[in-house]
Amino acid sequence: MAGGWSRDGAVSEQIEASISDELARMKARRAPVGESLTHCAECEEEIPEARRVALPGVKLCLDCQQERDGAFKTRGGINRRGSKDSQLK
Ligand SMILES: [Zn+2]
Repeated sequence: MAGGWSRDGAVSEQIEASISDELARMKARRAPVGESLTHCAECEEEIPEARRVALPGVKLCLDCQQERDGAFKTRGGINRRGSKDSQLK
């Protein structure tokens, strides 16, 4: 019985380790290098502190970031909308 408990613990420890490892990798890939800017690099709009804290190294305000992401999201959105329409019809 006791052996079962320790095995469970070891497994969840392994899972946690791989998750935090994965998170660290994702963060390293996503986060821009350097310090957060207080003002947007594109439009010089002030970047809210909450955004700077949430996204360390952030360089753009929300509007500019969305515009930059838009090129990718719009493509997915059009595809999704297209399949939705065909489902409705
Ligand atoms: Zn901006």
